[in-house]
Amino acid sequence: MATADLSQCSDECREALSRLGAFLDGELGEVTQARLAEHLSDCAPCTERADFEEHLRELVRRGCTDAAPASLKERIRLQLDELSSAPG
Ligand SMILES: [Zn+2]
Repeated sequence: MATADLSQCSDECREALSRLGAFLDGELGEVTQARLAEHLSDCAPCTERADFEEHLRELVRRGCTDAAPASLKERIRLQLDELSSAPG
């Protein structure tokens, strides 16, 4: 499994990841959606996480929850926790 380079993480990354759920749901304002999309387009670690989360949501939307076991969701949550608690 590819590991994101957390050393690149900035406040922007933390904001992007903290709003990832709302972003994928299209719940943010137009400006914020555009800003996050732009950040994701040139931030590989965030793109990787967004893709992972989006894929998971897609599976859940289709009702294929068997394909996304709780352990996977837990792993994502732990990764996000790890990021949000990273120093700096
Ligand atoms: Zn980022």
